[in-house]
Amino acid sequence: MESHVAPELRNWSGTYQFTAREVIAARTVGEVQRAVAAGGRVRAVGTRHSFNDLADNGAALVSVTGIAPDPVIDEAAGTVTAGAGTSYGALAAWLQDRGWALGNLGSLPHISIAGATATGTHGSGSRNRILSAAIAGLEYVAADGELRKADRSTPGFDGMAVGLGAFGIVVRVTLDIEPTYLVRQDAYTALPWDRVLADTDGVLSAAYSVSLFTDWSGESLLAAWVKRRVEDAEAVVPDEFFGARRDPGQRVRFIEAPDDNLTVLGVAGPWSQRLPHFRLDSTPSNGDEIQSEYFVDRGQGALALEAIRRLAASITPLLMISEIRSTARDQLWLSGSYGRETMAIHFTWRNRPDEVDAVLWEVEAALEPFAARPHWGKASHVQADQVAKRYPRLGHARALFEQLDPGGRFSNHRLERLGVRAAR
Ligand SMILES: Cc1cc2nc3c(=O)[nH]c(=O)nc-3n(C[C@H](O)[C@H](O)[C@H](O)COP(=O)(O)OP(=O)(O)OC[C@H]3O[C@@H](n4cnc5c(N)ncnc54)[C@H](O)[C@@H]3O)c2cc1C
Repeated sequence: MESHVAPELRNWSGTYQFTAREVIAARTVGEVQRAVAAGGRVRAVGTRHSFNDLADNGAALVSVTGIAPDPVIDEAAGTVTAGAGTSYGALAAWLQDRGWALGNLGSLPHISIAGATATGTHGSGSRNRILSAAIAGLEYVAADGELRKADRSTPGFDGMAVGLGAFGIVVRVTLDIEPTYLVRQDAYTALPWDRVLADTDGVLSAAYSVSLFTDWSGESLLAAWVKRRVEDAEAVVPDEFFGARRDPGQRVRFIEAPDDNLTVLGVAGPWSQRLPHFRLDSTPSNGDEIQSEYFVDRGQGALALEAIRRLAASITPLLMISEIRSTARDQLWLSGSYGRETMAIHFTWRNRPDEVDAVLWEVEAALEPFAARPHWGKASHVQADQVAKRYPRLGHARALFEQLDPGGRFSNHRLERLGVRAAR
């Protein structure tokens, strides 16, 4: 077990400085158990791709990313079980080599499975649920240092899948899998805003995964990035998408970023190399950035987009890119898609914290009528009363976390501020 004082520990983009005194890099499950049994506040940290203080606790953090993945497929159950600190990219490559697949992935493959699912990370696709919905089972180190298991038959499991690190340190995760499949992705540029606003759900639901990219200026969005499941590599795709034209180039650029960091367009390939936007062997996104994202009812998607569009003069100068995606309704208590077919509005901001902070107030005021739920892992001004109103099962989640961890070992300021854990 490696433990070090971490005065300079920052998140992936460097925009948040942790206050934790110590990071314990566990190599085995036993080391996680010993770290928890040592007492005091302790909290899991993943690959630090979040943009706020969610993973922090001012005390001790435990990383499980150094525990061997040891993936095991259960063909009969249609699942794979792997170390929770494994990156999605590493597991995806391993599954693909064996003819298996996950149903969806987020935009970057570098994030840990435990960290991504704990915050309700999602990909895109109106019929695809968030990544946490694929969790069939969990093994976690509980507040008493014991190793426990939970699965879909465990009472409260719907509260644990998007668990915010609030009930224990997850060490292994069981995910649903399916036979491997091919995906072809194409970029369609200059997508007219009037077509998107006339049929937002239709546009977002027109393929397996659709992402719309915009800087909110002008009469057209920059592009639709469309991922289709195809039967063979020769599959023909249309040249037009709701008035946008297919870009025959193999690469598109939306932001200043390394030249080769995007997955291949225009040619079908394995799901593992097409569903993420970013390649595993390159730096994702820009890096010097802040991210925010809000989830609204897709039925009100056009109205929400119009509300944000009216703020273009404030937003565009601070923005690298916005991405609009969809996810399917689920029943996970703290999911951004709980109980509603969802549209996600994402912002990758320039790293100008004060100005971004100011524009976020405007964005959030504009989205107030839509009861927007902010991404747990991204920057927002979300308050406890909003969380209480927007997550109908919050009370159940809090009661579950308090029952599993009565002493608040895994709690932190953010969870207490937002009413996810009891105030202490
Ligand atoms: C470039 C970039 C692209 C992104 N793309 C997407 C996207 O496409 N879709 C999307 O929804 N989000 C996206 N995100 C957000 C990202 O998925 C989330 O912030 C996610 O939480 C990051 O996982 P992590 O391992 O870095 O977690 P961390 O930031 O390290 O931790 C987040 C939370 O997970 C908990 N946690 C971590 N490990 C464990 C564990 N072993 N047991 C229990 N709890 C644990 C922590 O306690 C904390 O509460 C993106 C972020 C970046 C930087």
